[in-house]
Amino acid sequence: MVDIKDLDTGERPTWCPGCGNYVLLSTLKAVISELELQPENVVVVSGIGCGSKMPHFIKTYGFEGLHGRILPVATGVKLANKNLTVIAVGGDGDGYGIGGNHFIHAARRNIDITYIVQNNSVYGLTKGQYSPTSQKGFVSPTSPFGAIDEPVNPVSLAISSGATYVARAWYMDANHLKELIKNGVKHKGFALIDVLQPCLTFNKINTIEWYTEKIYKLEETEYKPNDKLIAFEKSQEFYPKIPIGLFYKEDGKPTYEDQLPQTEGKQPAEQKIENIDMNLFFKTLK
Ligand code: SF4
Repeated sequence: MVDIKDLDTGERPTWCPGCGNYVLLSTLKAVISELELQPENVVVVSGIGCGSKMPHFIKTYGFEGLHGRILPVATGVKLANKNLTVIAVGGDGDGYGIGGNHFIHAARRNIDITYIVQNNSVYGLTKGQYSPTSQKGFVSPTSPFGAIDEPVNPVSLAISSGATYVARAWYMDANHLKELIKNGVKHKGFALIDVLQPCLTFNKINTIEWYTEKIYKLEETEYKPNDKLIAFEKSQEFYPKIPIGLFYKEDGKPTYEDQLPQTEGKQPAEQKIENIDMNLFFKTLK
């Protein structure tokens, strides 16, 4: 079992004091350690945003890609070697806005990736523009009279797109967050963990207090996360109360990579490129 301190790269984040990214960073290290994952078998992939610096601070393999392109990179890594544990991390603007298209397709393919979204309803890195999950009326430099579009509901979108593990977490409940991520990593299929975490600097609406009075845990109710229609209905709930926890889990659905003949046996990344049977790729394309 890798010790948490051995996952430290020595680099230090420059996030604002109190930013939820610190909690997520230490939680991710705890997940890798407690699941006894070997760092050389883990790839943390990110896009662009405050929290997308994550691969710099975790001593596993990592890749910081382009804005909104986390999931294509993560998909490529998984298809090159499906034995790797692939964890994708990024913000709501990156994942649900610029990368929204990739999100839908990764979910419907049920590729075995764990996708953690730091959802603070604002573009923090670029100083506070409204994001796809900002509430209607949210005032920002790009919505000076208040946002007029309805926010994306990531949980509903993931369920309806075909994701097989869909959860929402609250960053201040670190143990709950850790368990949801751990189970997402263990799950065979596409897992979304949408993490509510305020941007203390640029979002003065969705504050810690705002969330704290609204959040409740699904596990403390009669709710069971095994019915897609009921899960979708539950995912619509956000006002006045916000449910967190596991909304939906479906076991046994084939993953994208397991249906590809190219990933049987020796993985493409372990072979010389000239030895890969390209006919298999063409067969899949037919
Ligand atoms: Fe965190 Fe917001 Fe600061 Fe970015 S701007 S580091 S999201 S608090």
